[in-house]
Amino acid sequence: MNLARWLEYAGRNRPAAPAVGRGARVLHDYAGLAGRVARLSGALQSSFGLTPGDRVVIAAKNGPDYLETLYAVWHAGLAAVPANAKLHGAELGYILAQSGARLCFASEGLDAEIAAHAPQSLERLIVLGGRDYEKLLASDAAAIVERAPDDLAWLFYTSGTTGRPKGAMLSHRNLAAMSEAYLAEVDSASAGDAILHGAPMSHGSGLYIMAHVMRCGVNVVPESGGFEPEEIFSLLSSWPRASMFAAPTMVKRLVDCAADCPAENIRTIVWGGAPMYVEDALRALDRFGPRLAQIYGQGESPMTITRLTRDDIAARDHPRWRERLASAGRAFACMDVKVAGADGASLPAGESGEILCRGAPVMRGYWNNAEATAQALQDGWLHTGDIGAFDDEDYLFLKDRSKDLIISGGSNIYPREVEEVLLRHPGVREVSVIGRPDREWGEAVVAFVVGEASPAELDALCRSAIARFKRPKDYVFLDALPKNNYGKILKTELRARDAKAAAGRGPGGS
Ligand code: AMP
Repeated sequence: MNLARWLEYAGRNRPAAPAVGRGARVLHDYAGLAGRVARLSGALQSSFGLTPGDRVVIAAKNGPDYLETLYAVWHAGLAAVPANAKLHGAELGYILAQSGARLCFASEGLDAEIAAHAPQSLERLIVLGGRDYEKLLASDAAAIVERAPDDLAWLFYTSGTTGRPKGAMLSHRNLAAMSEAYLAEVDSASAGDAILHGAPMSHGSGLYIMAHVMRCGVNVVPESGGFEPEEIFSLLSSWPRASMFAAPTMVKRLVDCAADCPAENIRTIVWGGAPMYVEDALRALDRFGPRLAQIYGQGESPMTITRLTRDDIAARDHPRWRERLASAGRAFACMDVKVAGADGASLPAGESGEILCRGAPVMRGYWNNAEATAQALQDGWLHTGDIGAFDDEDYLFLKDRSKDLIISGGSNIYPREVEEVLLRHPGVREVSVIGRPDREWGEAVVAFVVGEASPAELDALCRSAIARFKRPKDYVFLDALPKNNYGKILKTELRARDAKAAAGRGPGGS
């Protein structure tokens, strides 16, 4: 088995079908892409002597060469380690060292930073699109190196909202299962259908490359290499029926973009990776119509735990429609998902516990980290670290990461519940709720708010919607919330800032 096999088939069966788009134009057809990949694979084996299982880091901005290096790595029987181009050189250095990669492909401009932090294990650094890279593309084409289904294909470094990132080991089988689940239950794709990669290809968006290659679709990279709403809208005119993956913050930016957007040109916007608040989902639905789907997954079970389908999101007449918009939907058919108590036993509907899952997409473990693997994988179940509850119709409601849970006066408070209410205020653009250590309550609820609203108005809103003990005891107004490179709000940083501010105020200060 080898994921590169699907590309080889596409090259043979639909040689002239567009495979890669750059901006508005077709850059490669399938015969062209398959040929480039086979030659690059030849170079990886002959010029560098890489052998099956060796890791290759791809530290690159979104670009067409991302895709071809990814497939060339697989074609040569190697394992890809995609790393976000926005990481600091020291963070990239950590990933290079921890993965033991021998080779790194990097975007132009990132190479100096990487070289400055490169570990000894790294033998070569190749700049994508540079002269050395072009030379590699002139090598002799190689045949695909066969792999076993469980062999490592993608070492997925978790986005690390806390601590050092860990490398989730995703095999060829994991990624094939993930792609099939996507095509069956999230979004269908046919030959010629495009996916726009505005979100980072090292993460969610890149994980959807394979499904589109399987169906001979077109992987399109915006000229800017990033997520610019105006550019995305204009690309939709060139690539009608395009889909895209977007984090909730990106969907919000699309909704807020004043430019004209031909909504009917959108096949599907798939969101996931972080909570989408109901108010934001409603606005997206109003703007784009029934073209939205949600996935819940994590690097350890890539893009595939539960999904809220396009029909669920658009079913305005359903009595539970609005309620379900706050959920992450039902389990993918290939997954068993349960909400468990501390003993691992399933809890009844309505009760909150840790979300556990098992199924074909679930990782084999963390690279070189037996301790973290033993914690995450127990008795065949992946412990997600997320807290949630099922309703009586198997819709999963995510609460928060267990570490974000606030315990105040002995009661559990899920930040998301409070955030959903605060976001109903028209002046609130973004909000994040954390627990502040408190001598009397254990933790006190504190809301960080971006926007214009008075604490009194926000308090009145909370009083009208949630139990009094869940109301924030303090509101802190900020210009922006701290986020990581994938747009996830860094509650750890908010907690650290809050602690620092408290230390500045001294004992008894408020
Ligand atoms: P990562 O491994 O970086 O993709 O992060 C995965 C984490 O993001 C999950 O464990 C959840 O906490 C969160 N997450 C992913 N998808 C969703 C979603 N649809 N709604 C809310 N949170 C999500």
